Amino acid sequence: NSLPADAIQENSRRQVEQACYSFVAPKQTANPKLLHVSEAMLDNLGLSKTDVESDTFLKVFTGNEIYQNTKPYAMCYGGHQFGSWAGQLGDGRAINLFEVNHNNQRWAVQLKGAGETPYSRTADGLAVLRSSIREYLCSEAMHYLGVPTTRALSLALSGDQVMRDMLYNGNSAYEKGAIVTRVSPSFLRFGNFEIFAARQDVDNLKKLVDFTIKEHYPDLGEPGKETYLAFFKEVTNRTLEMIIHWQRVGFVHGVMNTDNMSILGLTIDYGPYGWLEGFDYGWTPNTTDREHKRYRYGNQPNIGLWNLFKLANALYPLIEEAEPLEAILDAYKIDFDKKSFEMMRSKLGLENEDVFDKSLIQDLEDNLLLLETDMTIFFRNLGLFKKENYLEGTRLVEQAFYAPSELTGEVINKWQAWFQRYADRLQQESLSDEERQVKMNKINPKYVLRNYMAQLAIDAANNGDYKLIDELFQLLKQPYDEQPSQEKWFVKRPEWARHKVGCSM
Ligand code: AMP
Ligand code: MG
Ligand code: MG
Repeated sequence: NSLPADAIQENSRRQVEQACYSFVAPKQTANPKLLHVSEAMLDNLGLSKTDVESDTFLKVFTGNEIYQNTKPYAMCYGGHQFGSWAGQLGDGRAINLFEVNHNNQRWAVQLKGAGETPYSRTADGLAVLRSSIREYLCSEAMHYLGVPTTRALSLALSGDQVMRDMLYNGNSAYEKGAIVTRVSPSFLRFGNFEIFAARQDVDNLKKLVDFTIKEHYPDLGEPGKETYLAFFKEVTNRTLEMIIHWQRVGFVHGVMNTDNMSILGLTIDYGPYGWLEGFDYGWTPNTTDREHKRYRYGNQPNIGLWNLFKLANALYPLIEEAEPLEAILDAYKIDFDKKSFEMMRSKLGLENEDVFDKSLIQDLEDNLLLLETDMTIFFRNLGLFKKENYLEGTRLVEQAFYAPSELTGEVINKWQAWFQRYADRLQQESLSDEERQVKMNKINPKYVLRNYMAQLAIDAANNGDYKLIDELFQLLKQPYDEQPSQEKWFVKRPEWARHKVGCSM
């Protein structure tokens, strides 16, 4: 065993007090097999394609071997789940292997699904192929969309069978076990700070905050109240930026619990997430949240604020003044309105400002709700609009309507009226139609990981065919580019997939 003597591996489940993490050992797996590797992440970590072919690579990134002088650990964190304090949660199925410093960037590398830890509570510490494919594909796709996110290096089968409740028939069944290697500058979450505050362990809270600032926000300065406030402000800004990006591309996280909020403002924990098909503020992919829809698309900005409020509470013992924290939270609301407005204006290709832009956007959103309208197709095709030809508008976006035959009467009148307004508005802009389209195509993606696409890759993989994973992976590396041979993925969700979404476990 290559572990140093002081690395006590203790995976048994327990409350771990006064500690940020516990040393653990990943589980040995029956028959590990690599399914996919992200070449960009290999590069980032200073690894090569030859490295991938080595037995060591396979073993390390499935938890079957540990690099010399590294000490795998699981982090202790708490969190508010669905609005209530949940106590200690922690890395229940994530194991941090080591950190890499390459090209002036620091990366923490962790396995998801590599066995139990002290934080596994009643679950098994494992992951199934289904959820692993979803996380692997989506986190890399988000990166290429320009959304701040944790990354993924590899997707592997463990060779073990994992028991899971099936979503739709209520029975339990064995599924293929899998392990994703996730990579991020840091996996610290709001919950890492909350757990110390909840335990009134101010010493460790301060140590963790000072560490986070020194390692990840070094420009903020030396420890002290002003720096802690600047830190909170910066986390607030980054969280806001991230959520604006989600709204822009139609990503719905699905479990915005505070343990799933990164302290670096990165999208983390790809569980029951989903992509908007029909534009709908009320939509959530999370089947366990269908009653209250706490984490619905239109509520993500509010939940971001709610979560930041919990983080502010956690940092309070180090600041002992509520007002400056409240001021930062108040600013979030104003900044959010401003930035979300700018984001919507950019989706419409507007550069100049006009006092009626708010109402132009409001009318558009109202129209998008008239009929089920595919968000991705609508905005992408809106780029084709010609300002001299507003009558053509409805035809250009027709492909986005799930029931185009209902595009009649009052509905069509409202759309014609909107396109006329949009055409008038574009007369104030200096860009040509072509220039505007180029700009809009960098904001409005052509290809996103539609829920049914991930499902097709999962169904094929469960039958031993892994080609689609690579096809989607390559497709989603260039989400803003036209890929003529891949038009088949620029389509509305097929009817069979209407109520079918993935799940987190
Ligand atoms: P999530 O809803 O994915 O954010 O998970 C909430 C908590 O449950 C986290 O502490 C996870 O580590 C833990 N957890 C989720 N799935 C498992 C699992 N299969 N085994 C152990 N812990 C898990
Ligand atoms: Mg989580
Ligand atoms: Mg999860």
